[in-house]
Amino acid sequence: MKAFIWIVTSLSFSIGVVAFAVHHSWIRIPPNWLPWEAVELEQPPSWFARLQINSLSTDRRACFDALARSSMIFRAIDDRPADDGCGIESGAVIKRSYVPYNRPFEATCALLAALYWYEQRIDALARQHLGTPLALIDQWGTYACRNVNRSEAGRRSQHATANAIDIAAFSFADGSSITVLDHWGEDTPEGRFLTATRDAGCQFFNTVLGPDYNDLHSNHFHLDLGRARICR
Ligand SMILES: [Zn+2]
Repeated sequence: MKAFIWIVTSLSFSIGVVAFAVHHSWIRIPPNWLPWEAVELEQPPSWFARLQINSLSTDRRACFDALARSSMIFRAIDDRPADDGCGIESGAVIKRSYVPYNRPFEATCALLAALYWYEQRIDALARQHLGTPLALIDQWGTYACRNVNRSEAGRRSQHATANAIDIAAFSFADGSSITVLDHWGEDTPEGRFLTATRDAGCQFFNTVLGPDYNDLHSNHFHLDLGRARICR
């Protein structure tokens, strides 16, 4: 019993000392490792990246502040709430993110924040698997007023609130490009790059659907910040 009291006392004391030191900045914790502090998109994400992104979904001010501290070129757009389950709130049009896209698009602020980190990760994967930096992402759309899987009935898709993006292909600095349709499942550097890119999406987005999920996703990755946690 004495030993137990001693362990609890010294453990509490140690935790107290560390907390005090962190609070007074004697110990420096890298950005993004304290989930309650501001999200720094120019700094490497931590294990809490998805938690932080989800907190940005419900904190408009913190989200736009995070985008403003990055090198992203964007313009906030007026809310377009609608009662049919379609519309966009806390949205922005993006002109230039960490890498360029095939065309500008509008999306929720939190989705743009997640993409900014994801693009840096894809760039690192391109260098690792293909030996060339990522140059452009080919996206097929964010906002679309429709239901899941384009069915007549059922739930609204996350696309109905611009909280989702479909990505179909990637181009690289050496002039090459890779499409999900042509290279998915290949035992080649291109195929391994795509698998690693799909997997990396799960660190930042709640739902990631690719060719392994169903035939509707045979030619693109669907990434969204809805409530469902799916990673396939
Ligand atoms: Zn989609």
